[in-house]
Amino acid sequence: MSSDPNCVFCKIIDGKIPSRKVYEDDELFVFHDIAPWAPVHFMIVPKRHIPSMAQVTPDDAALLGKIMTLAPRLAVEQGCRPYPEGGFRIVVNTGAEGGQEVHHLHVHVMGGPRPWLRG
Ligand code: ADP
Repeated sequence: MSSDPNCVFCKIIDGKIPSRKVYEDDELFVFHDIAPWAPVHFMIVPKRHIPSMAQVTPDDAALLGKIMTLAPRLAVEQGCRPYPEGGFRIVVNTGAEGGQEVHHLHVHVMGGPRPWLRG
Protein backbone atom coordinates (compact mmCIF):
# COMPACT_ATOMS: atom_id res chain seq x y z
CA MET A 1 0.00 0.00 0.00
CA SER A 2 1.54 3.35 -0.96
CA SER A 3 -0.86 5.53 1.07
CA ASP A 4 -3.37 4.77 3.83
CA PRO A 5 -6.35 7.16 3.97
CA ASN A 6 -6.69 6.58 7.72
CA CYS A 7 -3.01 7.26 8.51
CA VAL A 8 -2.16 10.60 10.15
CA PHE A 9 1.33 10.69 8.61
CA CYS A 10 -0.03 9.91 5.11
CA LYS A 11 -2.38 12.88 5.62
CA ILE A 12 0.57 15.08 6.64
CA ILE A 13 2.54 13.95 3.56
CA ASP A 14 -0.50 14.72 1.36
CA GLY A 15 -0.86 18.17 2.97
CA LYS A 16 -4.29 17.33 4.41
CA ILE A 17 -2.97 17.92 7.95
CA PRO A 18 -0.58 20.86 8.45
CA SER A 19 2.97 20.27 9.63
CA ARG A 20 6.21 22.18 10.06
CA LYS A 21 8.15 20.74 7.13
CA VAL A 22 11.93 20.39 7.35
CA TYR A 23 12.70 18.59 4.08
CA GLU A 24 10.98 16.76 1.23
CA ASP A 25 12.04 14.75 -1.79
CA ASP A 26 10.40 12.13 -3.98
CA GLU A 27 10.67 9.41 -1.32
CA LEU A 28 10.89 11.16 2.05
CA PHE A 29 9.04 13.75 4.10
CA VAL A 30 10.58 15.33 7.20
CA PHE A 31 8.71 17.44 9.75
CA HIS A 32 8.96 18.66 13.33
CA ASP A 33 7.35 16.55 16.03
CA ILE A 34 4.25 18.28 17.41
CA ALA A 35 5.20 17.29 20.98
CA PRO A 36 9.01 17.48 21.01
CA TRP A 37 11.05 15.47 23.51
CA ALA A 38 14.16 17.58 22.86
CA PRO A 39 15.10 21.10 21.73
CA VAL A 40 15.54 19.68 18.21
CA HIS A 41 13.06 16.94 17.34
CA PHE A 42 11.98 16.04 13.85
CA MET A 43 10.89 12.83 12.14
CA ILE A 44 12.03 11.38 8.84
CA VAL A 45 9.17 9.50 7.19
CA PRO A 46 9.05 7.51 3.95
CA LYS A 47 6.23 8.76 1.72
CA ARG A 48 5.24 5.17 1.00
CA HIS A 49 3.07 3.78 3.80
CA ILE A 50 5.28 1.25 5.56
CA PRO A 51 3.59 0.50 8.92
CA SER A 52 6.77 0.03 10.94
CA MET A 53 10.36 -1.20 10.95
CA ALA A 54 8.90 -4.70 11.38
CA GLN A 55 7.69 -4.67 7.76
CA VAL A 56 10.85 -3.52 5.98
CA THR A 57 12.41 -5.88 3.43
CA PRO A 58 15.76 -6.04 1.65
CA ASP A 59 14.14 -3.98 -1.11
CA ASP A 60 13.94 -1.09 1.39
CA ALA A 61 17.69 -1.09 2.12
CA ALA A 62 18.43 1.90 -0.11
CA LEU A 63 15.51 3.88 1.34
CA LEU A 64 16.65 3.16 4.91
CA GLY A 65 20.22 4.06 4.01
CA LYS A 66 18.99 7.33 2.57
CA ILE A 67 17.14 8.11 5.81
CA MET A 68 20.20 7.35 7.94
CA THR A 69 22.52 9.46 5.82
CA LEU A 70 20.06 12.35 5.67
CA ALA A 71 19.64 12.43 9.47
CA PRO A 72 23.08 13.88 10.38
CA ARG A 73 22.83 16.59 7.74
CA LEU A 74 19.36 17.72 8.82
CA ALA A 75 20.28 17.47 12.52
CA VAL A 76 23.02 20.06 12.09
CA GLU A 77 20.82 22.22 9.85
CA GLN A 78 18.13 22.17 12.55
CA GLY A 79 20.50 23.32 15.29
CA CYS A 80 22.24 20.28 16.72
CA ARG A 81 25.88 21.08 17.42
CA PRO A 82 28.37 19.02 15.44
CA TYR A 83 29.86 15.74 16.63
CA PRO A 84 31.47 15.03 19.06
CA GLU A 85 30.47 17.91 21.38
CA GLY A 86 26.94 17.98 20.01
CA GLY A 87 25.34 15.11 18.17
CA PHE A 88 21.85 13.67 18.15
CA ARG A 89 19.79 10.60 19.01
CA ILE A 90 17.89 8.44 16.54
CA VAL A 91 14.91 6.39 17.78
CA VAL A 92 12.59 4.11 15.84
CA ASN A 93 9.75 2.89 18.04
CA THR A 94 8.35 -0.35 16.63
CA GLY A 95 5.13 -2.04 17.67
CA ALA A 96 3.16 -1.71 20.89
CA GLU A 97 5.97 -2.98 23.12
CA GLY A 98 8.39 -0.71 21.27
CA GLY A 99 6.27 2.34 22.14
CA GLN A 100 4.98 2.99 18.61
CA GLU A 101 1.74 4.98 18.47
CA VAL A 102 1.63 6.13 14.86
CA HIS A 103 1.79 3.12 12.55
CA HIS A 104 3.65 4.69 9.66
CA LEU A 105 7.40 4.14 9.85
CA HIS A 106 9.13 7.23 11.26
CA VAL A 107 12.66 7.87 12.41
CA HIS A 108 12.85 10.30 15.34
CA VAL A 109 15.92 12.57 15.31
CA MET A 110 16.50 14.47 18.56
CA GLY A 111 19.22 16.72 19.89
CA GLY A 112 20.15 20.05 21.38
CA PRO A 113 21.50 21.10 24.75
CA ARG A 114 20.78 18.56 27.48
CA PRO A 115 19.19 17.59 29.79
CA TRP A 116 16.20 16.62 27.66
CA LEU A 117 15.70 12.86 27.50
CA ARG A 118 15.60 9.98 29.89
CA GLY A 119 18.52 7.66 29.48
P1 ADP B 1 5.10 8.02 20.71
O1 ADP B 1 3.76 8.63 20.45
O2 ADP B 1 5.12 7.18 21.95
O3 ADP B 1 6.21 8.97 20.64
P2 ADP B 1 5.74 7.10 18.07
O4 ADP B 1 7.16 6.67 17.91
O5 ADP B 1 4.71 6.38 17.26
O6 ADP B 1 5.32 6.99 19.54
O7 ADP B 1 5.76 8.64 17.73
C1 ADP B 1 4.73 9.32 17.14
C2 ADP B 1 5.13 10.76 17.19
O8 ADP B 1 4.34 11.49 16.30
C3 ADP B 1 4.98 11.39 18.58
O9 ADP B 1 6.22 11.89 19.02
C4 ADP B 1 3.96 12.50 18.34
O10 ADP B 1 4.22 13.66 19.09
C5 ADP B 1 4.10 12.75 16.85
N1 ADP B 1 2.91 13.28 16.19
C6 ADP B 1 1.66 12.79 16.26
N2 ADP B 1 0.81 13.53 15.50
C7 ADP B 1 1.57 14.50 14.94
C8 ADP B 1 1.29 15.60 14.06
N3 ADP B 1 0.05 15.83 13.59
N4 ADP B 1 2.32 16.41 13.69
C9 ADP B 1 3.55 16.18 14.16
N5 ADP B 1 3.89 15.16 14.99
C10 ADP B 1 2.91 14.34 15.38
